[in-house]
Amino acid sequence: MTTIIDGNEIGDQITAGVAACTDTLVGEAVTPGLATVLMSDDGASETYVSMKQQACEEIGIEGFHYEISADEPAETLFSTIDELNADPAVHGILVQMPVPDHVPKRDVLERIDPMKDVDGFHPENVGRLVAGNARYKPCTPHGIQKILAETGVETEGKDAVVVGRSDIVGKPMANLLIQYGPGGNATTTVCHSRTDDLAEKTRNADIVIAAAGVPEMIDGSMLSAGTTVIDVGINRVDADTEKGYELVGDVDFESAKAKADAITPVPGGVGPLTIAMLMYNTVKAASLQSGVDISL
Ligand code: NDP
Repeated sequence: MTTIIDGNEIGDQITAGVAACTDTLVGEAVTPGLATVLMSDDGASETYVSMKQQACEEIGIEGFHYEISADEPAETLFSTIDELNADPAVHGILVQMPVPDHVPKRDVLERIDPMKDVDGFHPENVGRLVAGNARYKPCTPHGIQKILAETGVETEGKDAVVVGRSDIVGKPMANLLIQYGPGGNATTTVCHSRTDDLAEKTRNADIVIAAAGVPEMIDGSMLSAGTTVIDVGINRVDADTEKGYELVGDVDFESAKAKADAITPVPGGVGPLTIAMLMYNTVKAASLQSGVDISL
């Protein structure tokens, strides 16, 4: 029987722990604060930001939200970040990606105070992650680590294949999988668009993590029996629905399910964990900045 991993349930468990830590902080007169900044007209980005703000409200984290028109100069975004860096009520800053083409993404990431960088994308935090001394683990890969742990999937000594080498998912995921300790110690292969014979790599894997952004590109014929399949992809494809589209992952769910030992669905798999781990990082940021200890 294939286990269909319930990301909502695992996310709820983590969120309950984060909410308890928030209560502890509030009891010490520290209300964790998360600022989201949106500089885009993209509908999906708007949805992601509003889901993050809603999660803050449910947990008791104070949400601050800023919208900057996509045709403003980069300097407008930088000065907003500078203000948020200086604001003691804001412990975490998230600039929703992608930003417009005229805004240099690397400069945005480097502008955020590393202590408030709850996405974990600032070079200082990337360096700490690679060195095995993470301050804020990037939310999606961290959430996947939690999924694997909660599902009882051992990573030690296993062959893991990560499909995708982006800075936000593929690279940090691979870094976590090769670290010493629980959730790591996997022999990890990172694949990308130039990989020769991807199916040969995925067929030899115990764990496949698909983060390519290509709808349903990994199907059952590319997997061996007993694989754990984590589908990160969120792709809008045209469909005869009210919205005119539906969300599908990077994995062809039905054929992959027939081979897999455990598999995440889309939606309801990795997505809820990404938000839960953002809340986790925000509460951790509030603890680090206030000096109030919490057991996260
Ligand atoms: P990017 O577009 O930044 O990176 C995609 C990666 O996949 C690249 O490394 C690319 O290779 C590789 N790739 C593309 N096509 C192929 C192919 N045919 N075969 C092998 N590798 C390929 O995407 P992200 O990492 O930002 O996101 C990936 C997916 O995950 C998207 O669908 C996104 O929406 C989703 N996502 C979901 C989240 C969640 O919470 N569930 C959070 C973040 C993202 P190359 O480097 O050579 O171009």
